[in-house]
Amino acid sequence: MAGSNANPHITEIQAAISEIVHTIPVGLVFDSHFVITELMARQDNIYAKFSAAYSILPKAHSEISKMIDGCACERLLHSTAKLNSFSKNVRDNASLNAAWIRLKCKNKTCPICKPTRVTG
Ligand SMILES: [Zn+2]
Repeated sequence: MAGSNANPHITEIQAAISEIVHTIPVGLVFDSHFVITELMARQDNIYAKFSAAYSILPKAHSEISKMIDGCACERLLHSTAKLNSFSKNVRDNASLNAAWIRLKCKNKTCPICKPTRVTG
């Protein structure tokens, strides 16, 4: 039983999302509209295959947003609330969107950062 991981393209799209997040300079703020626009521009095939598994696009985009978490970044927080951006979505409508801040990657096995090997 695959449960919520039923989409067979999760691994591919997670790698693509991680790559995009890694292109953002450390310390800068971004939102999922940026990540989705970049996915469509750089990895249109993966994005299309992943999104086809959902009956409505906002559901696919919501899943993509969840995958941004833990990807060398974290949700932008105020002391009392999560902070949002205001930017255009893929339908060219400006709307509120979850905002993240890019952090230094802490994943010691990150295939993008390729940290120095300690053994070999
Ligand atoms: Zn990394």
